Amino acid sequence: MAIQNSTTTNGTAATNGVNGASTNGVKAGPAPLDASKLVMTLAEKLKPLPEPESLVFGQTQTDHMLIVNYDPVKGWGAPEIKPYAPLVLDPMSSCFQYCPNVFEGMKAYVGPDGEPRLFRAERNMARLARSAERVALPPFDTSALLTLLKEFVHTEKRWIPSLQGYSLYLRPTIIGTRPALGVSASDSACLYVVASPAGPYFKGGSRAISLLAVNENVRAWPGGTGGHKLGLNYAPGFKPQKDAADRGYDQILWLIGDRVTEAGAMNAFVVVRRDDGDLDVHTPNLDGTILPGVTRSSVLSLLNAHTSSSLLLPTLPKTLKIHTHEHPITMPELKAWSDQGKLLEVFGVGTAVIVAGVGRIGYSGWGEELVLPENEGGLGPVGKGLFDMLTEIQAGRVEFEGWCVPVV
Ligand SMILES: *Cc1c(COP(=O)(O)O)cnc(C)c1O
Repeated sequence: MAIQNSTTTNGTAATNGVNGASTNGVKAGPAPLDASKLVMTLAEKLKPLPEPESLVFGQTQTDHMLIVNYDPVKGWGAPEIKPYAPLVLDPMSSCFQYCPNVFEGMKAYVGPDGEPRLFRAERNMARLARSAERVALPPFDTSALLTLLKEFVHTEKRWIPSLQGYSLYLRPTIIGTRPALGVSASDSACLYVVASPAGPYFKGGSRAISLLAVNENVRAWPGGTGGHKLGLNYAPGFKPQKDAADRGYDQILWLIGDRVTEAGAMNAFVVVRRDDGDLDVHTPNLDGTILPGVTRSSVLSLLNAHTSSSLLLPTLPKTLKIHTHEHPITMPELKAWSDQGKLLEVFGVGTAVIVAGVGRIGYSGWGEELVLPENEGGLGPVGKGLFDMLTEIQAGRVEFEGWCVPVV
């Protein structure tokens, strides 16, 4: 790795690939992503750190960015960590026209030892590679990107607030940069990672959110791209979300017909009391319309861990058995559970919010709103137990299956 100090603010997405020719004159394929080629250019003047309490999600830029370009002939160039700066791109770049754009959302936390930690980061790397493949962006070595990401987290370490519930949000992004208008795959790409310090999602104590169930617009459909983190999945949701907000709802409960898919950009969970006193926890199965969330997967593991007593959720009785189910959930089922007094909790999960409790659900198919049991702070015992355990694991205070390890 080369380190140089400069005041460079040039963010041009120029190709910087290495020579792809091999020694015997036979042309080698495009170069793979190689972390050992990292070039560091540190900012000469660092920005003042903001007051943590003043942070608004995703609105603060740190000092540096990680960036690497892919050229169709040379392959991946030399990755750079350099001062945060605008990109300069050809106006014809396919990212502006046909949206071959993918992203990830993940967080770095600082542990009691003062060391930065990443939570299940290899899952985000694998999902980014799957998303990229879905829109025919060039492949990359996920472990090389993780190595680079760790170097970036170390570079930006001072930006991770050490306050409880705070973290450094990381946004790995890949955009297609082919500078031509032909409707085809982008054979050039720019991969970059930016970071933004983040506070707790709900300021001044958490509360239950309201959902408006919608099926006249859909977020995802069978055979579509809902199971991938593609930029193009989100813009069509902005207008329905605005309309729902105008009607007094926080988020949309996205349906396909009468089937529940996701709550806003969160995976949805439903807790139902069984006749034998155990709990059923339902979440839609990963049928391609559901984003395979890292938090979703972690929540399922933690619920199963409680039942097997390998890690107990502090808010629940030790002997409580929780049966997890990944299968379709319908609106009539929700209504029936509610009418029978068995519907205990509905919550959404994701990296930004961790766990968000739902207080009421509006749906044109019902005469009146479905109202969930009220809980202090908006989370019921299952949601609260999961929130607390996830934040303990992320802060490095509880170790579970190597999920959140210091960045080395
Ligand atoms: C990112 C995202 C989630 C949550 O995924 P995590 O990996 O848990 O952060 C859920 N649904 C949608 C639509 C998303 O974009």
